[in-house]
Amino acid sequence: MHSCNICGNEIDFRTVRCPYCGNDQEIESMGHVRPEKKIFRLKTVNLEQGLPTVEQALNRLKNEISTARLEQITVLTLIHGYGSSGKGGIIRLECRKTLQYLLSGGEIEAVVFGEEFSHRQPSVKQLLRRFPELLRNPHLNNHNKGITLVVLLP
Ligand SMILES: [Zn+2]
Repeated sequence: MHSCNICGNEIDFRTVRCPYCGNDQEIESMGHVRPEKKIFRLKTVNLEQGLPTVEQALNRLKNEISTARLEQITVLTLIHGYGSSGKGGIIRLECRKTLQYLLSGGEIEAVVFGEEFSHRQPSVKQLLRRFPELLRNPHLNNHNKGITLVVLLP
């Protein structure tokens, strides 16, 4: 599994230009990785895929976080959709509740709601300084209520 460092969508590791966001990929030359700098890895997961029940979506959320941790993902982008009423709205609400719970237990490092993923937010500014790769993220400043970013690595 390999994902685009800009949008986090799954792409073939040989891909030079991402077909989703059109950005060029930086090739990780294995022999020249500086040990003091962690490789930034972004992954996007669509929790709405397959029209899950709320329970299925929450189980998937927990599984995806465990998997992403094993894959040493830095930032996991969750697509949970939104809706003022109905299942979509409940999945968004419940996913975010679960994430707050994981955050308070120290299992994840930070949670950024899509609508707050703006360079005006002080916490986001800090995040962008740590991970400048996020400056080119297609969701930045888009106030996308249907996504949540999860920072996994300290
Ligand atoms: Zn991309």
